Amino acid sequence: MSIVGEHTSACDEEHHALVDPGSSRSPSGSWGVRLGSGLIVLGLLALLAAIEGQQEGRVVLGLVGFGAIACGAAGTFVAVWSQRFAASNNHGVFFRSAQSQGIVAWALAVGMTGFYVILYWFPERLERMTHLLDPVATLLAGRAADHWFLYGFVYTIAVLVFGLRMLVKHRGNPYQLWRTASLMAFQLGFAFLLPHLMELARQPEFYFTYFWPLKWSYVFPSGVSELRGHPGGLGVFLLVWSAVASLVATPVLTYYFGKRWYCSWVCGCGGLAETLGDPLRHLSSKSSTAWRIERVSIYAVLGFIVLTTALVWTHASGHAPWLGGAGRRLSDWYGFFIGSVFSGVVGVGFYPLLGSRVWCRFGCPMAAVMGLQQRLWSRFRITTNGGQCISCGNCSTYCEMGIDVRAYAQKGENIVRASCVGCGVCSAVCPRGVLNLENGRTHGDRMVGHQGPWTRLLAEPPFKSTDAERPQHRKRHS
Ligand code: SF4
Ligand code: SF4
Repeated sequence: MSIVGEHTSACDEEHHALVDPGSSRSPSGSWGVRLGSGLIVLGLLALLAAIEGQQEGRVVLGLVGFGAIACGAAGTFVAVWSQRFAASNNHGVFFRSAQSQGIVAWALAVGMTGFYVILYWFPERLERMTHLLDPVATLLAGRAADHWFLYGFVYTIAVLVFGLRMLVKHRGNPYQLWRTASLMAFQLGFAFLLPHLMELARQPEFYFTYFWPLKWSYVFPSGVSELRGHPGGLGVFLLVWSAVASLVATPVLTYYFGKRWYCSWVCGCGGLAETLGDPLRHLSSKSSTAWRIERVSIYAVLGFIVLTTALVWTHASGHAPWLGGAGRRLSDWYGFFIGSVFSGVVGVGFYPLLGSRVWCRFGCPMAAVMGLQQRLWSRFRITTNGGQCISCGNCSTYCEMGIDVRAYAQKGENIVRASCVGCGVCSAVCPRGVLNLENGRTHGDRMVGHQGPWTRLLAEPPFKSTDAERPQHRKRHS
């Protein structure tokens, strides 16, 4: 009895993930991991010495420190993930303090939040670290580094290094490989190198992959007049680019592909969430309370920026000069509360406690606009083959947007939720191949059983039904 009992108990524990399934073959002792960890420690020491020291050559030491940390982390990820099974294994994420809201996670959250607070409001404290990057800034932008250059540099390194981790982790999944490579390329090319190279060429520092309402300042009167006044005609082109991207490209691409074309393939915020934030994606709350808060907060932020934009333009048109103070105040509040506190301090600083998509889920106005369209009028859907579902819950656990994917799978319903960013991880971790990300032929065939308002209207225009059709119609639904 005892043998059977022990055996059953051990199997059950492993089956229900009560013990770390990877612990018996952990690669943490491999030479690659030791080498990588050693490099990280040496890099940190070098960086610290360069920041605190006065010696000649501290800039070189600092750059070597940055490089060693990045290479050490990349080497460690490759060593660890190349020895693990594909991403359908949970790898004991709930057993690590850093990944299960333990003491290490709290320490990380305090450190990351502190970094953002210093970056936004006390940048002089970063001055010594910032100037270690002067040679890089001179090479790329033709000027000394400032704290935003430091931020962009660290951000890009994080996306590249943790992106490499995603590439190795999902090495058998083409969707994950392509979209991760795309996020890395957009961050490096369009969100870091290109804006600085434009500066070097005495052109506006412009971010081609950020549009209104996410990058609100580009369509504010001050932003527009700055671009219009730029000599050489490039400013006007950039204005046209912003307008076309916001008003034409975004709705058209969202119709064909859902919001994933932006949130999971292009956006820098999504890029950080999908790379640096990947080890923490399971922390997103799946409760219905969180869903309720999400729906209120994200549309409140959208309303806030729409109102602010309308006010500043009404004032700028000269028709309502008394609106000037209100527009300015709202724009200042938006910049402080949403642009800095919500998207930066909370959005990234709280990764270790609330998961990786706090900003995208609860605050991003661009995600709100695309989400509305995705819900009402897009070809994108996740189809579910409910008969194959074994209710393991992997999909819900790893959905960074807090969607209870399993509930849809069990009912065999397509998923067309506004918040879904189409990351595809639910599908990647499903052991039964239940979930498929698809773009259908039209938007009208994705709601099985209960169609959305636009679909119903377009599929059954009331003015087209004839007397002969009506009884049949009633009969069908009776
Ligand atoms: S439902 Fe799937 S594809 Fe959509 S956000 Fe969640 S994990 Fe990503
Ligand atoms: S859809 Fe797949 S991952 Fe989700 S509960 Fe069912 S079998 Fe598990």
